[in-house]
Amino acid sequence: MASAPAAAGYASPLAQSLAEDVLDRFLRYARIDTQAAEGSSTYPSTERQLDLSRLLVSELRGLGLEDAELSEHGYVFATLPGTVDGPVVGLIAHVDTAPDVPGGQVTPVVHHAYPGGPIVLPGDAREVLDPEELPELAARVGHDIVTSDGTSLLGADDKAGVAEIMAAVAHLVRYPAPGRAPVRVAFTVDEEVGRGTDHFDLDQFGADFAYTLDGSGIGELEVETFSAYTIRVTIHGNAVHPGSAKGRLVNALKLAAELIGSLPADSLSPETTEDREGYVHPARVRGSASEVVVNFLARDHDDAKLEEHVALIRRLAEGVVADEPRARVDIEVEETYRNMRQVLDRHPDVVAAAEEAIRRSGVEPKHTIIRGGTDGARLSARGLPTPNLFTGGQDYHSVREWASVQDMAAAAATVVELVRLWSERGRASPASTA
Ligand SMILES: [Zn+2]
Repeated sequence: MASAPAAAGYASPLAQSLAEDVLDRFLRYARIDTQAAEGSSTYPSTERQLDLSRLLVSELRGLGLEDAELSEHGYVFATLPGTVDGPVVGLIAHVDTAPDVPGGQVTPVVHHAYPGGPIVLPGDAREVLDPEELPELAARVGHDIVTSDGTSLLGADDKAGVAEIMAAVAHLVRYPAPGRAPVRVAFTVDEEVGRGTDHFDLDQFGADFAYTLDGSGIGELEVETFSAYTIRVTIHGNAVHPGSAKGRLVNALKLAAELIGSLPADSLSPETTEDREGYVHPARVRGSASEVVVNFLARDHDDAKLEEHVALIRRLAEGVVADEPRARVDIEVEETYRNMRQVLDRHPDVVAAAEEAIRRSGVEPKHTIIRGGTDGARLSARGLPTPNLFTGGQDYHSVREWASVQDMAAAAATVVELVRLWSERGRASPASTA
């Protein structure tokens, strides 16, 4: 690659050489409406996601990845053959965007060589990115900043990841030397509605381990998610016509209110916790005087603490019916996902390679924890170790979402370095990752 030093703002000469292609792809993908939908009975949840998936298949074929295909469930799979034998590196991003923010028609805007100061979004002057409130933006004077026009999200989550993988693959096709490991690419659907890997076939994918490009700030490497349960508490009251209810009616709604009211007021909730503090969160209530279902989300990075949160809900729920023999409560606990750290701890080489690739692209790696889950958490639990890498996008799920072109280029460079690095390890000890 170019031996001249990188221009200001670029993490490395490689990042600089990838920037134009990353931006070009990102702008093209961002304009395609791929919003997912909650509560859809189809898979993917919206047909429009496939508009981008189909484009990616044709672009991958155009790059020479001849086996690029759209699976029956809407996943894109493709192979970039290695120049050496060795472990197969999986690269994963999702094409869908979040359903809870306006997203349909996205008009990306590039603010070249950001001079500092507030960025007023052109489609809605009330939407302002203020560096006083956004230290990450304040630190990116001189960068090229991409935003939406203020009327929709941008969709850097996760089209930045898609564009970075595509640009890295294009680069690795053009420059096979000094070596590349075999790569399997996957672009998934419906990540934003928690169903990104529902039909993901690990055998069809065929990677030995993988990396999702679905993180945020530059250098971030995420190997820890929450472990998560959904707790469904059903409170059965005693329904009687209100006209003749004296001494007989037991109102399930009031018991549910009592249950929610008995939660700790200043701790153990999403609104009072950060970092490694877990929580229980009443997320939905449905029902009537006769029967109410309360859905709680329980989250923690520590599985023992997570069990304590479940025990607390059990105790409180049983408590509200304890003095009322005519009422009763049913509690169902369902695992949503597990902290992927337990799996990744058994594959330190997968994590170490990511750290080294970030470093080689001129960036200091930062371990961050996810207060949520990722597709990688579910894939790791199923046996495919899958840490999450940064994309350079910021303030996701908001009309003020933005991304630095220089940071996106650093993420694409990290992917290139990762594939190069695994080719070195592949040569050293084929199948070292089993
Ligand atoms: Zn995402």
